Amino acid sequence: MARIVQKFGGTSVADIGRIKAVALKVKREVDAGHQVAVVVSAMAGVTNQLVEYVNGVNPIHDAREYDTVVSTGEQVTAGLLALALQEIGVQARSWLGWQIPIRTDDAHGKARIIDIETDELERRLALGEVPVVSGFQGLAKDNRVTTLGRGGSDTSAVALAAALGADRCDIYTDVDGVYTADPRIVAKARKLAKITYEEMLEMASLGAKVLHARSVELAMKRGVRVQVLSSYKDEPGTLVVDEGEIVEQELVSGIAYSRDEAKVTLVGVMDKPGVAAHIFGPLAAANVNVDMIVQSVSPDGKTTDITFTVAGSDLARTVDLLEKQRDNLRYRKLVSDAGVAKVSVIGVGMRSHAGVAQRMFQALADKGINIQAISTSEIKVSVLIAEDYTELALRALHSVYGLDSD
Ligand code: ASP
Ligand code: MG
Repeated sequence: MARIVQKFGGTSVADIGRIKAVALKVKREVDAGHQVAVVVSAMAGVTNQLVEYVNGVNPIHDAREYDTVVSTGEQVTAGLLALALQEIGVQARSWLGWQIPIRTDDAHGKARIIDIETDELERRLALGEVPVVSGFQGLAKDNRVTTLGRGGSDTSAVALAAALGADRCDIYTDVDGVYTADPRIVAKARKLAKITYEEMLEMASLGAKVLHARSVELAMKRGVRVQVLSSYKDEPGTLVVDEGEIVEQELVSGIAYSRDEAKVTLVGVMDKPGVAAHIFGPLAAANVNVDMIVQSVSPDGKTTDITFTVAGSDLARTVDLLEKQRDNLRYRKLVSDAGVAKVSVIGVGMRSHAGVAQRMFQALADKGINIQAISTSEIKVSVLIAEDYTELALRALHSVYGLDSD
């Protein structure tokens, strides 16, 4: 007997028919003798609608009331799934975040889970009952409902799996696993049987939208085995596990990309101590996340150019902030470009092998793709390129690292 947490995303519970199908998936695990707890998202599109309602009243709203409204989608699905389970003879009971409770901090709209009280859930699991838990929500110290940030029900599921010491956390979604690259772009992409937490975290942060990045972080920290699988198909998905569990580690496990990038260049800034701090200080204060940074050598020893990237959605704000600081920073010109994309090669294997970056640069050069910025970590190399070349770059890299299916 195993203990399993199953999580079903918005498309998996999009209508009554889908909810009935989900109930059958839960029943199957129960019939196999497992203890099962379920976490659900809101029905597809519902949370967006709720956010729109709130913004319709006032775009600059009280975050506590935002949470009161947007958390309700998950209440509906928890109740409906509990009913659907009872309907097919499975003992089930719905649980809202506050009823458990799932305690969070008070950062409304993006709260973090602090603790989950499991005594009552344990008692009911032991009796064969299936708890159906509303994802995405929790309870702050002052007893107000909180939400965890968009996409946060993955994190609810992993946190519950950790608290219950579950053997596995199965995340059912509309893709059937984690691929070596986006299969909509790279036809030869393969589904991975296993991937390490670290690689998955890079993939999630670098644009592959399969799992909420924070859920992967938490799974890694707490050692929760996560499986990503399809709620439509009946086949194993991708297991996210510890490095030690992967016997034959590939050099590169996947290629990720993000089009939501923008490049900013400050031309002719003073080349003297403190300038970078002056530029990036105000951006940090305004909560603008700066990603890649390149500073060119100074031709005359007096001025230099600094190029950096931000999320596309932050570009307007960034330009505005820097223009306001113009007298202070004394740059000659500000150039921005939203038509860029970031392409990344990811693999824990590159920790112990040289030449991964070189192969990437060569492959891009062979296709005539110019690299505008580079950043690296121990297990990834990212380059910034013109957005129009994204597909070409992905396919070329996928093949150069031997990831293509036959
Ligand atoms: N329903 C929430 C959202 O749409 C949480 C989730 O689906 O993970 O963001
Ligand atoms: Mg999701």
